[in-house]
Amino acid sequence: MYQRYDAVIVGAGGAGLMAALNLAGHGHVAVISKLYPIRSHTGAAQGGIGAALGNLEEDHWEWHMFDTVKGGDYLADQDAVEILCREAVETVYELEHWGLPFSRTPDGKIAQRPFGGHTREYGKAPVRRSCYAADRTGHMILQTLYQQGIKNQVHFYNEFHLLDLLIEQGRCAGVVALCLATGEIYTFHAKAVILATGGCGRIYRVTSNALALTGDGMAVALRRGIPLEDMEFFQFHPTGIYKLGILLSEAARGEGGILRNRDGERFMQRYAPTLLDLAPRDMVSRAIYREVQQGRGIDGKNYVHLDVRHLGSEVLDQKLPDITDFVRTYLGIDPLREPVPVQPTAHYAMGGLPTDLEGRVVIDEKNTPLPGLYAAGEVACVSVHGANRLGTNSLVDILVFGRRAGRHAGKYIEENDWVPLPPSPDGPAQDLVNQLLSGNGNERAAAIRDTLQDEMMDKAGVFREAKGLEAMQQKLRELRQRYRQVKVEDRGRKYNTELLEVIELGGMIEISEALVAGALARQESRGAHSREDFPKRDDPGWLKHSLAYQTPKGIELKFKPVTITKFEPKERKY
Ligand SMILES: Cc1cc2nc3c(=O)[nH]c(=O)nc-3n(C[C@H](O)[C@H](O)[C@H](O)COP(=O)(O)OP(=O)(O)OC[C@H]3O[C@@H](n4cnc5c(N)ncnc54)[C@H](O)[C@@H]3O)c2cc1C
Repeated sequence: MYQRYDAVIVGAGGAGLMAALNLAGHGHVAVISKLYPIRSHTGAAQGGIGAALGNLEEDHWEWHMFDTVKGGDYLADQDAVEILCREAVETVYELEHWGLPFSRTPDGKIAQRPFGGHTREYGKAPVRRSCYAADRTGHMILQTLYQQGIKNQVHFYNEFHLLDLLIEQGRCAGVVALCLATGEIYTFHAKAVILATGGCGRIYRVTSNALALTGDGMAVALRRGIPLEDMEFFQFHPTGIYKLGILLSEAARGEGGILRNRDGERFMQRYAPTLLDLAPRDMVSRAIYREVQQGRGIDGKNYVHLDVRHLGSEVLDQKLPDITDFVRTYLGIDPLREPVPVQPTAHYAMGGLPTDLEGRVVIDEKNTPLPGLYAAGEVACVSVHGANRLGTNSLVDILVFGRRAGRHAGKYIEENDWVPLPPSPDGPAQDLVNQLLSGNGNERAAAIRDTLQDEMMDKAGVFREAKGLEAMQQKLRELRQRYRQVKVEDRGRKYNTELLEVIELGGMIEISEALVAGALARQESRGAHSREDFPKRDDPGWLKHSLAYQTPKGIELKFKPVTITKFEPKERKY
């Protein structure tokens, strides 16, 4: 099947929809999504969107910028962070004008609450910066944007699964996708493509990420010679529900929740005396691991307690209704009466497709753009989050840079023509599908996926060291071999979700290879990347971004400098 559009956006989460709204009106635009749009993971975001509105106390975008740079352990590109924090303010008002039902202050302004790492006056004390709609902020954002998309006549291809990216004459020429309902493969010829396919948390066993977050956009681009930036930085959120990983938003601590060990001690006092439970996530997750290692986990096990009993039913019911429900449903615990068992859960990829400030994908250390190709949202790395993202900053990122990518692509499609398609554009995708549907190996995808997730959790999780990472590389080589023998039981074409899961798994192995190569090379500890064998940050050696390329010989790494404008790297204390 052949379709032609001026621009195609892959992904209908916050980033994809925002890009689409800014492109609509400049040409013929389609959004392809493997999920029905409002099932995208953006809808699961709970805690809020950060913007220095100053509704409840003094606040400034410069403070927000400082917090973001420091929270990211000085690896973020500061020109990009400045844009993020300045444009956050107008973005929140734009959402309000589109009808987003924010929670309100008594005098009718958008309500704001504290969040990890967000402070006033450059680190003095927590500040109320997170704008929220109870603990359903992402849900409201997604609904609002989707309504606007329908109103602006964006053309949606739902349940279409991206399989390949087309590049011809050094420019992007479109994408290839599989229609779930029919099993047919479509070639989408386009002048511009925006990848907005979200994150890849499913490479880990315990994760807050939805089933669909398998990093497909990253994998497809990696195979086409595009690098992935800073993949070694993967954030673990401190408060996943024990064993399940389902997220209990940082908003619980923003509203006053406290972490306690088996002795009932508020242990964050020892790790972050100023910000306590509202220290950045990398620090709190490490603190939980340390407590557990030193025998202070609850009942000697690998979890601690989140205590919200003192907040009272009014706060829980009005400001945290969803997560209160989760705790009752999944644990059978009433958080008003009992503390909640929590453990760190794989949450957010700081790394992704390298882009410039306009969302253009760049392919080397000199930031050379690949014309016609854009990326925005969690799939991308601008980089605004550096080595560790602050809570509420992803929702800002997806909207601010989704908009910038959409705007730039809008100009690009007006000024440029289609490049011809490569010969047999859907050939590689057809081959992949045919091979998988006719393979007669005896490996089960579920078993390979289980091993991958367990091993990644163990060897490339919160703490890493050379020995474990080398063992992980070996394991990934084995998994690749086993993957070649994988058997797809369902040989049909229509609604073959098993086939798509197997395709996702192939990509997850490849992304893990990039992540592990970066983690092994980076001989320092910075933000979420914590090496037991190199416990210090090393600015002279490692204040640089990694770029991982897939080659026939395995992953090759290059490096590019960090942009520093206002804040020189300092020791990170909270
Ligand atoms: C439980 C949870 C709570 C969170 N809370 C917050 C919060 O309070 N504040 C905050 O700032 N951040 C939060 N985050 C992070 C934030 O929600 C995400 O980083 C962000 O929403 C990602 O948006 P996105 O548009 O990049 O991707 P997503 O919303 O994940 O959308 C990805 C889209 O890509 C499509 N797609 C993927 N693969 C393919 C493919 N192969 N073919 C076609 N389409 C494809 C999907 O269908 C989907 O439409 C939270 C994350 C989680 C998991």
